[in-house]
Amino acid sequence: MSTALLHIKQIAIERAEEVELKLEPAEIAAMMVDLGDYELDSPEDFEVTVRAQRVGDLTVRLTGDAWAKLTYTCGRCLERRHLEVESLFEYVLVPKPVWSDRFEGTDEVALSEDELDMDTYEGDEIDVRPFIREALALELPAFSPCTVQDEAECDEAYARLVGDEVEKELEEATVDLRWSKLAELKKQMSED
Ligand SMILES: [Zn+2]
Repeated sequence: MSTALLHIKQIAIERAEEVELKLEPAEIAAMMVDLGDYELDSPEDFEVTVRAQRVGDLTVRLTGDAWAKLTYTCGRCLERRHLEVESLFEYVLVPKPVWSDRFEGTDEVALSEDELDMDTYEGDEIDVRPFIREALALELPAFSPCTVQDEAECDEAYARLVGDEVEKELEEATVDLRWSKLAELKKQMSED
């Protein structure tokens, strides 16, 4: 059984206790999928600490700190780059039936921000993996160019990528522009 499954009754009441998570490399790999343009190259590029606490009988508060080094392709220079993300997360989970009883049919506008922020669980176990994954996914930028540190390299790689040909075309276009300006000037002068 995965250490990522927390049995509700074993979660400490009114005090946050660190969960002994010993995620297998395969579990980490399976968890960190579908992150858009980002990929986890190795399970070693991932760390997480989770604390769990029961507030009352069945409401569970998960807090923690997740970190990952992800790889992506820069949309500009097409080089592979790394991005480190960290997330300090907090989830408040209530059993689904409880949530439904309390809020179903309620106009969303009538719910307070805290109530809207609640997540639900079913059965008597909570799998912490989807929450860890979501916390990190929320930190990822939608557009992924090189970071500022790699900016110069990105420029160079981009220049290599578009090649000399495009550069030459650009130069020619500039020359054409200059010529046309000159021609215009000449035309104006002859008209005067
Ligand atoms: Zn780049």
